[in-house]
Amino acid sequence: MSNATVTTRECGTDAHAAKALTVEQARKRIMAAVEPVSGVEKIALRSALGRILAEDIFSPIDVPSHTNSAVDGYALANASLSAETTKLRIIGTSWAGKPFSGRVRAGECVRIMTGAVVPEGTDTVVMQEHVQFLGSAIDVTAGIPPGENVRAAGEDLAKGQMALAKGKQIMPPELGLLASLGTVEVAVWRHLRVAFFSTGDELRSLGQSLSEGEIYDSNRYTLFGMLTRLGVEILDMGVIRDDRDAIECAFLEAAANADVIITSGGVSVGEADYVKETLERLGEIDFWQIAMKPGRPLAYGRVRGSTFFGLPGNPVSVMVTFYQFVEQALRHMMGQSNARSALTTFKVRCASRLHKKPGRTEFQRGILESDDTGELVVRATGQQGSGILRSMSAANCFVILPRDSQTVEPGTLVDVQPFHGIL
Ligand code: AMP
Ligand code: MG
Repeated sequence: MSNATVTTRECGTDAHAAKALTVEQARKRIMAAVEPVSGVEKIALRSALGRILAEDIFSPIDVPSHTNSAVDGYALANASLSAETTKLRIIGTSWAGKPFSGRVRAGECVRIMTGAVVPEGTDTVVMQEHVQFLGSAIDVTAGIPPGENVRAAGEDLAKGQMALAKGKQIMPPELGLLASLGTVEVAVWRHLRVAFFSTGDELRSLGQSLSEGEIYDSNRYTLFGMLTRLGVEILDMGVIRDDRDAIECAFLEAAANADVIITSGGVSVGEADYVKETLERLGEIDFWQIAMKPGRPLAYGRVRGSTFFGLPGNPVSVMVTFYQFVEQALRHMMGQSNARSALTTFKVRCASRLHKKPGRTEFQRGILESDDTGELVVRATGQQGSGILRSMSAANCFVILPRDSQTVEPGTLVDVQPFHGIL
C-alpha cells in the first residue's frame, strides 16, 4: 500500500477534505480581494486613538528641542577636569523650564535638574550621587566620560525626520509621540462601516422568552465585542426572520449602508433557510469548505459592492473565523499597512494531551501559564465543541494544531496565539 493511499484513508474520515481549502489558501484569497477604504478626516489628537493614520508625519521640530540633562546633578565642561583640578565652583542652577542664562567657564559648574537645558560652556552632567558636595563647590574625583547624562537636541526625532508613516494604527505610544511634536489634529482614514445580523428561526433576542428549541442570539454579542474592539463603525441589524423577503431586504439595506456585511449561520451544507439562495441572487459569493475545526463552512464574496463574510453559526466558530480571516481583512480595509491579525503566534510546550485527527487545522482553546520552573506552558480548557462558548471564556489563547498532525502528547511544542489585549 502506497503512502498516498494511507493518507487518503486517514483523511477519508472527513467527507469534505478533498475539496476543502486550507486556512492559508482561504486567507490569501480574501486578502487578495479586499481594498482599503478611501476617505480621510482630520480629527483632534485624542479622538484618533485606535484610528489609522492617513498621512506621513514629519517632525516640525527637534525632539527634544534643546540639549538637556538626563539626571539631577552638575553640568560642567569635561575638559576643565584633570588629575590636579577636581574642585568646581557652583555658579548657579538650571531648572527644567528655567534655564541658567550665563556662560560656564573653566573651574565652574552649574547645578542642573532632569530635563533642564545644559548651559553654554558645558558638555557633561555628573550625577549628584557621584560628587562630594562642599557647600559652594563640588569635588569630582571619579573619571567622567564626556557627554555623560546629556540628551542631545533632536536625538528622539530630528526636525524634518519622518516620525510616523501613513497606515500606522494610533495607539498610546503614537498619541504621546504626536503630542511631543505639538500635533493638534491628525488625518486618519474614515471609519470602516460594518453591518451584521443573525439568521435562524431558533434565535431570540435578549428580553424575549424562549420556547422549546429556541436559543438566545449570542453571536451578535461576540461580533459586537470584536468589531467594537477593532474600532469600526457598527450597524447591528438584529435577528432576521427566515423568510425570503426579510433576508433579501436585510442584505440590500446592509449593502446600501456598510462597506462590509457579516452574518452568522445559514452557510452550512443542508441549511433550510434562504440565505444561500438570496446571496446567489444578489451577489458573487463563494461557499467554501475550509479544512479547519471549528469553522469549516465560510461564505465570502461581494453583495452590491460591499464585502461579505458569511460566518458559520456555531458560537466558537464565529470567533475563530473572525480572528483567523475577518480581522486581518478589516484591518487592511481600514487602511492599516501590513495588516495582520492582532494575534501573534509562537511555540510553547503543551502540558496536556490534545486529541486530534489528521485532515483539518484545529484551533483548540488553551490556557497559557507559567509552570513551577517559570516556563510558559499551555494546557487545554477541556471540551472543545464548536458550540461551547465557555471554552473561549476559560481560554487565554488558541492552540493551533497543523492540518495533518495527530493527537499531541504532553511535552510537545505547539503553536499558540494569545488573546491578551484582543478579547
Ligand atoms: P447554522 O450554521 O445556521 O447551521 O448554525 C449552527 C449552530 O449554531 C446551530 O446550533 C445554531 O442554532 C447555532 N447558531 C446559529 N446562529 C446563532 C447565533 N446567532 N447565536 C447562537 N447560536 C447560533
Ligand atoms: Mg441556521
